[in-house]
Amino acid sequence: TAQLLPESLRSDFPILAEHVHGDQPLVFLDSAASSQRPLQVMNVVRDVYVRGYANVHRGIHVMSERATDSYEEARRKLQKFLGAKFDHEVIFTPGTTASINTVARSWGNANVGAGDEILLNPMEHHSNLVPWFQLAERTGAVVKHIPLTDDGRLDLSQLDSVLTERTKVLAVTHVSNTLGTVNPVAELARRAHAVGAVIVVDAAQSAPHLATNVVELDVDFLALSGHKMCGPSGVGILYGKESLLEAMPPFLGGGSMIGQVTLDGFTSAGLPAKFEAGTPPIAQAIGLGAAVDYLQSIGLERIAQHEHVLVEYAYEKLSAIEGLTILGPAPEHRAGLVSFVLTQPHAHDIAQLLDQRGIAVRAGHHCTQPLHDSLGITASTRASFYLYSTLAEVDALAAGLSEIAGMFRPTGRRRRRRKVEE
Ligand code: PMP
Repeated sequence: TAQLLPESLRSDFPILAEHVHGDQPLVFLDSAASSQRPLQVMNVVRDVYVRGYANVHRGIHVMSERATDSYEEARRKLQKFLGAKFDHEVIFTPGTTASINTVARSWGNANVGAGDEILLNPMEHHSNLVPWFQLAERTGAVVKHIPLTDDGRLDLSQLDSVLTERTKVLAVTHVSNTLGTVNPVAELARRAHAVGAVIVVDAAQSAPHLATNVVELDVDFLALSGHKMCGPSGVGILYGKESLLEAMPPFLGGGSMIGQVTLDGFTSAGLPAKFEAGTPPIAQAIGLGAAVDYLQSIGLERIAQHEHVLVEYAYEKLSAIEGLTILGPAPEHRAGLVSFVLTQPHAHDIAQLLDQRGIAVRAGHHCTQPLHDSLGITASTRASFYLYSTLAEVDALAAGLSEIAGMFRPTGRRRRRRKVEE
């Protein structure tokens, strides 16, 4: 496959040509928090409102039919994107957080009891920890963790000691939003199934960047967010295996998710409506379908390859900066992001000083506070790449960081004086 040339598609993303703080060209390295979206997606969303908007699955009129057709077509696009067997295994949700909460509430309440075990690990995002802690609180289940290796990967040599006959669910991120680590999901699925557990995969950071096939990976549930993959915010997906979704009670109650309602009770609709209570994010879901079209027109393999080139280059350039420590594994085990700390200054100051140079990065704990605790730090700075990121932007980041690190480095004279004092 031909190499992806990001310069050739940057005109699809007009925001990338913005200047900030006067005349600084924007260097947007915060796509892991939320990506930018191309005109192709924005035009589709606009067209929904211009030509074909009404509530879905309700009105017997042309506009409702147009909106419903586009909405259901988007579901089939996502089905193909994920390699799912059936379109009704694809549920539109507000995003990854909502998807994981749906599983923890609906599947969790029905299948997890006191003394059962929930297997997590320290690199998970808060949205793949807290819903499971809440499930444990409700049920008396026990939370366990797969330990990490020193370079920030799951330590599978320890898996047998934490994955047991009592494990009901293994929840894991496919790609860590802080370390960049790509986790071996297919192997984890096999191991989880061998003890009768289900596997829930947080694909928020993988689906935008790596080809994902839920049947090949053999995962039971998978969650993603549209806004990280060139789609609108406010929409995401919960994929679940048909048999599991069929057996689960609905999570939210309201319109659309019912079969019949009487004064005394209700029956549930079938899939996927059972899990789509209320008016869904209609234009956003259709926009997510357009985002999938856009990503597939470029090719997920090419996107992954391009990001690998960027991350290898960034790893090499940033490693050379005195006082800078990169978190997480070597480039061959990671996706397109790099988090790091400097001896000085603090992560937030780094982000602010980079911002003054037009460079947008994320600083903080990135919703992975337990991971930062385990590393003995409170915050880090993260640069994350996407299909439109360029080597020149990595150069700008490295140059900015060298300058910032230099500003806070003790001068030769001060360093010598300190030595004498010691
Ligand atoms: N999991 C991971 C790994 C993430 O990076 C994020 C977004 N930062 C989420 C879950 C939550 O996604 P959302 O806020 O779109 O629900």
